Amino acid sequence: MIRVGMGYDVHRLVAGRDLWMGGIKLDYEMGLLGHSDADVLIHAICDAILGAANMRDIGYHFPDTSAETEGMDSKIILKKTIELIASKGYRLGNIDATICAEKPKMNPHIPAMQQCMAQVIGCDPDMISIKATTTEKLGFTGRQEGISAYAVALIERV
Ligand SMILES: [Zn+2]
Repeated sequence: MIRVGMGYDVHRLVAGRDLWMGGIKLDYEMGLLGHSDADVLIHAICDAILGAANMRDIGYHFPDTSAETEGMDSKIILKKTIELIASKGYRLGNIDATICAEKPKMNPHIPAMQQCMAQVIGCDPDMISIKATTTEKLGFTGRQEGISAYAVALIERV
C-alpha cells in the first residue's frame, strides 16, 4: 500500500540568524526566525511525511513551546519523523519539494541538501527531489520577508 502526504511551511527572514535549508547552512546575510533552527524545507518535508501516515504535524510532535526543541537542529526532527512513521509500519518512498525564495540562489546547494537529508533518512539521494523558484518579486517571499516551502511525500507499507 502506498500513501501520499503534503506539507507547507513559512518562516520569517531576519538579520542576525543563520540560514539553514535542507540540513545545510547557507552563507547569507539573513536567516530564518523560528523556535528551532527554522529549516523551512525540512519542516515542509516532515509535515508531508507525517501527513502521509496520518500522524498529525511537526507542531504536534515537536511543539515550539518546548525547551527541548529550542534551537533544535531540524535534521533531528527529520530523523524522528522517519522513526515515527516506522512505528506505524511505513517507510519513505520519495519526496518532491519546492523552496520559494527571492534570495539567496538555492540551486547550487541542492545536491548538498539531497545528500545531507538522504544520509539522515538512510535513503538514496535520488529519492529526494528539491526544486527552487522565486515568486517574481511578488508577495512576502518576493519582498524577502520570508521563505516558504512545499513538499509532497510518498510512503509505503513495510
Ligand atoms: Zn517551520
